[in-house]
Amino acid sequence: MRLVRFTEQDGRTRYGIAEGDTITVARGNPLSRLTRTGREVRLSEVKLLAPIAPCNLLALGRNYKAHADEVGGEVPQAPLLFTKATSAVIGPDEPILLPRAAPDRVDYEAELAVVIKTRARHVSERDALAYVLGYTCGNDVSARDCQSADGQWARAKSFDTFAPLGPWIETDLDPASCNIRCRLNGNIMQDSNTSLMIFSVPYVISYLSRCMTLLPGTVILTGTPAGCGFARQPQVWLRPGDLVEVEIEGIGVLRNSVQKEP
Ligand code: MG
Repeated sequence: MRLVRFTEQDGRTRYGIAEGDTITVARGNPLSRLTRTGREVRLSEVKLLAPIAPCNLLALGRNYKAHADEVGGEVPQAPLLFTKATSAVIGPDEPILLPRAAPDRVDYEAELAVVIKTRARHVSERDALAYVLGYTCGNDVSARDCQSADGQWARAKSFDTFAPLGPWIETDLDPASCNIRCRLNGNIMQDSNTSLMIFSVPYVISYLSRCMTLLPGTVILTGTPAGCGFARQPQVWLRPGDLVEVEIEGIGVLRNSVQKEP
């Protein structure tokens, strides 16, 4: 099932269930209870929002070996956790803004995003997926100059618009083996599969739940595969007018253009 969050002409935020080009408008909230109203609208006639407004936005560094290798970092012995500000979240088709403070070395990172449905604390790896609402495409946009200057990553990863999510939450997905790609202006920059994660989705949920309560609406970005712009020869940086697409098999395509921060 594809869960969408959207606005219509009246500007109100609604949830719905998308099938093809049709959205069945729903009442309630996917984190508690969602019921179909019977009213239908066209997907092409609404503005899709990020499918969830996360209460916490957690992310993993170096969770694909080929990416750990390209950045010259060691393969972590445990999931390498960092956080992104939730104010960085944008939806599909919203522009990524190159920040005034750091416009020159902004990079893309295609990632599978896990959305937690049920409060999770000390859950086992075996039970972990039962706490998941579903999955969406994420882009862990990063200002590499800030990332290397700061010694930790909070600022580099938290500029406004640096967390595109969408286009919807797919509830029926096995996260163990999905092709994941990033295209920049139509060119494939990252092309991998979630089976190549060092720490699997169930392992990560279990691990994080032993640190903190994973509240309903928590989003976990599970790391990016190889092919980031800063690790290429020559390096590639996002520029105004670019189009970045994150595609995950079984979910869909998250598209965002790039602009200068006004
Ligand atoms: Mg990342």
